[in-house]
Amino acid sequence: MSVTSACPTCGKRFRFPDDSKVGKKIRCRECEEPFVVEPLGDSEKPTGKPKRAKTAGGLPPRTVGVKPKPKKKSRPKSEEESSKKRKSQKKKKSNFTGSPAFIGGISTLVLALLIGVPFLSSGDDKPMEPPASYTSFQHEINNAFKCEYPSNWKMESGGKSGSVVWARIEFEDVKIRIRSSMGASAIGDIASNMGGDILGGAGGVEFDESMAPIASVHEMMHDQYAQDYSGYQEQQPKKIETGFGDTRISEFTASGSWGSTVRGVRASMLGRDLQWTVICDCPEKDWAVCQPVFEHIVKSMSRG
Ligand SMILES: [Zn+2]
Repeated sequence: MSVTSACPTCGKRFRFPDDSKVGKKIRCRECEEPFVVEPLGDSEKPTGKPKRAKTAGGLPPRTVGVKPKPKKKSRPKSEEESSKKRKSQKKKKSNFTGSPAFIGGISTLVLALLIGVPFLSSGDDKPMEPPASYTSFQHEINNAFKCEYPSNWKMESGGKSGSVVWARIEFEDVKIRIRSSMGASAIGDIASNMGGDILGGAGGVEFDESMAPIASVHEMMHDQYAQDYSGYQEQQPKKIETGFGDTRISEFTASGSWGSTVRGVRASMLGRDLQWTVICDCPEKDWAVCQPVFEHIVKSMSRG
């Protein structure tokens, strides 16, 4: 039985083929905010008041309010009808199998498949064009951040003041998600306090890279984003400079659909009171074109 649930942050509804996700934490595809899947009741309103997923961690999974599907009506009649149809089709078929028209039809079909399939797959394998130009973007909520993105790629953004702020850039099968995290800003504070102590005590001695605040934040955010993919594997982070200052970026691979591979990058940066993640992925065939684009977007990230 399918389950409908709604994101408590943005209200977007999701249908799940069964109840296996009920009680599990997922990330909203619309606003990027994590939430616990709860089936909508008959009132079709989200159950309970909006909650930050991290505070819902201790609650038991809810399994109430699964809406039963209405029973299909008037089966017997339609079955009778379709069996009649089938019979008449059978009759027709048996009359036609021997005829030249039927054989001709089959060979045309085979020919179409032979010609059509290579056409389809060659279109699919064609690498995408690199973007010709970039456009500046300024997030509308409190000027939360700025970045640049390819002019012909689709940009959407949203969020809530004082809560999560997000943007999504898409082009064909390429996706870039940018989002703030309140939870991690606390982590960032802790990390920068730690870093401060270490820096203060180190005085002139070479700073241990693994102890940089952003390095620990980047590591801590790994699990949150890795769970959005299957077979997520990440390489060692690299240190780069963006408009947010010291940034960490890691390349990753994951499993796509139909046994394909996706490649991407995950980047973490620290704002004044928000932590920012940019996560980008593309089909493996587009990686050569996308990798510099992803890096361009990450590097262009700055305070708005
Ligand atoms: Zn949402």
